[in-house]
Amino acid sequence: MSEAPSSGTPYPYDAPASQALFDRAAAVTPGGVNSPVRAFRAVGGTPRFMVSGTGPYLTDADGREYVDLVCSWGPMILGHSHPAVIAAVQDAVSRGTSFGTPGEGEVALAEEMVDRIEPLEQVRLVSSGTEATMSAIRLARGFTRRTKVIKFAGCYHGHVDSLLAAAGSGVATFALPDTPGVTGAQAGDTIVLPYNDLEAVQEAFHRHPGEIACVITEASPGNMGVVPPLPGFNQGLKDACRRNGALYISDEVMTGFRTSRAGWYGIDGVKPDLMTFGKVMGGGFPAAAFGGRADVMAHLAPAGPVYQAGTLSGNPVATAAGLAQLRLLDEAAYDTVNAVSAQIQSLVTEALAKEGVAHRLQTASNMFSVFFTDREVRNYEDAKRQESFRFTAFFHSMLAQGVYLPPSSFESWFVSTAHDEQAVQRIADALPAAARAAAEATAA
Ligand SMILES: *Cc1c(COP(=O)(O)O)cnc(C)c1O
Repeated sequence: MSEAPSSGTPYPYDAPASQALFDRAAAVTPGGVNSPVRAFRAVGGTPRFMVSGTGPYLTDADGREYVDLVCSWGPMILGHSHPAVIAAVQDAVSRGTSFGTPGEGEVALAEEMVDRIEPLEQVRLVSSGTEATMSAIRLARGFTRRTKVIKFAGCYHGHVDSLLAAAGSGVATFALPDTPGVTGAQAGDTIVLPYNDLEAVQEAFHRHPGEIACVITEASPGNMGVVPPLPGFNQGLKDACRRNGALYISDEVMTGFRTSRAGWYGIDGVKPDLMTFGKVMGGGFPAAAFGGRADVMAHLAPAGPVYQAGTLSGNPVATAAGLAQLRLLDEAAYDTVNAVSAQIQSLVTEALAKEGVAHRLQTASNMFSVFFTDREVRNYEDAKRQESFRFTAFFHSMLAQGVYLPPSSFESWFVSTAHDEQAVQRIADALPAAARAAAEATAA
């Protein structure tokens, strides 16, 4: 993978302080980053090292300010440094940072989640979305006493060994077919199917009678860009699972508490057997969860035989941040995020249309992304057909003008309640030149 973008875009500016930090980072950390999507490998150039965030803005080590359209990949739905979240964190920190015992904060966070999402009867807190999906899969296997798992190409469920086959997000960005380090046995129990294809699901159940423990799907995928389920798809999955004695696991790590007060469940109302959460529920801290039917969750240790544990699970600082954030996320907050998202969406399409750039803007509530193609994107194969070199040019133009987009064309864009008129205006001002850059870009 080369550092230069395929279009050969000369970077119109440099970032010496970020570059110096990146050089130091590369000496002590593989690729200079602690999560691959943060590197600019897909778009080229120097990743920006951020030093602070306030509301809709991030400031980098060179002192440049950006309107943030990543929002930490979703969690910062109230913007950065929200005073109420910061106050809750400071209060929690002043009482100690980890006890290794139960505490009230984790109960209150679980209650808030259960209260919002009807099929969520019980939850277990963990520290990352990866842990949540890994544990949910183990529980589904333990509960059903079956081994096989159905997942969809382009869906990302964290870096769980058995779920990395045809995963989205960074795996899509870097076009890694499979990852070394995952054994044939781990991958062999995973059945990867095309997204939005119910026939393929029915056929898989038919081919493996009594063997499939669960179907795991992103509630509405955002890790191959935004590719919402076609009408009836999630219900069809649920029905197929029920008919065949498998569990339906809805991965709401990205959509949970982001797409509505009750996440994607609040939009499509399809009741999962198990669900997974992360991102927004942690308020910017490592807090995640899995949960669902009480009779299934009862199989989890110490109530049942399926083991699962975590030294920092339910951490008092993380749960305080998450709870403070969820309490502020009422209907009015979602109305605000949805409205600002819609506004930005139309600005983006207008600018691209004006320059005659073929594109599709796809949305899932306030999550959205732009595919540089004129065809509808219904699955990972469609997503891969876009002209990513146009995104590269678009991305760098926006970055140069102070707008921070996800550094990949396979990611959702995220906004917050803090994206006010001034922030939207800055995006609007940057779009015409970025659209022109996308129009003029040529494949390498
Ligand atoms: C981000 C994400 C994960 C993984 O969460 P981590 O906290 O990064 O481990 C899992 N599933 C989905 C849908 C995600 O978007």
